[in-house]
Amino acid sequence: MWFVSIGHEPLEFCECIYTDMPFYEVAPGVGLIDLWQVNVYVLYGNGDAVVIDTGMIWDSKPLLRAIRTGLPPGTNISAIIQTHGHCDHAGNTAFLAKQFGAEVIAHELEAPFIEKFQTYMPSGWRRISLKSLVFLLGEIFIPVRRCRVDRKVREGDTINTPIGPLSVVHTPGHTLGHMSLWHEGNRWLFSGDAVINVIPFIRRTALCLPVPLFSLDVKKNRASAKKLAALKPTALFAQHGNPLLSDADTALTRFTDEFEATNG
Ligand SMILES: [Zn+2]
Ligand SMILES: [Zn+2]
Repeated sequence: MWFVSIGHEPLEFCECIYTDMPFYEVAPGVGLIDLWQVNVYVLYGNGDAVVIDTGMIWDSKPLLRAIRTGLPPGTNISAIIQTHGHCDHAGNTAFLAKQFGAEVIAHELEAPFIEKFQTYMPSGWRRISLKSLVFLLGEIFIPVRRCRVDRKVREGDTINTPIGPLSVVHTPGHTLGHMSLWHEGNRWLFSGDAVINVIPFIRRTALCLPVPLFSLDVKKNRASAKKLAALKPTALFAQHGNPLLSDADTALTRFTDEFEATNG
């Protein structure tokens, strides 16, 4: 057993293979590459791997090195699942897809944000807002290389991975076509940004919703978090913060009950 740190919180891992961008095996067949600001998950086994999200554009080379060093030799990446198209999640999707000939998978409502230059800036009168400015600056300074979404999925669709099938759970709110992934067999939840496990900015470990400034509709995000809590996962792998490897159902239910009591 190893004790290492993601962000600044200690975490016990099953195995740790250190490269200059660490690749941790956080559960059997689940690798985590900690890009500090976002997690990339690599689901692997039998020479195949599927990646969930790809980090920011400037992480392409260290990400590739971590994948190559962390995965067993000869493993190919057959698919990239995109929880949503934000610049910290889709920055290297085009790069990895080209490198490995991988299929890109995203929710049908999110695909336009990955394939085309469709902005996350609010429309109408909301265009004149701090949220708009934040997304405008993000789109200028942290660009996303566009690529084709080969497979557009929706609620209930199944995506085969080396650790078993994942069901698509549409979790809108953070973005229109945000999706989480559910591993029914192990009761593992890959929540994307619908629920994260770090308090932004202060980076303390706790279940949390993303910063409202970065979300399309906070109310819908809350409803999506409740939908995820109802799944009663044993483990939660969020795209920000440490994976929650035990009692995730209790923590998630407590979290959603708390915000329901606060926000009605
Ligand atoms: Zn996001
Ligand atoms: Zn994010």
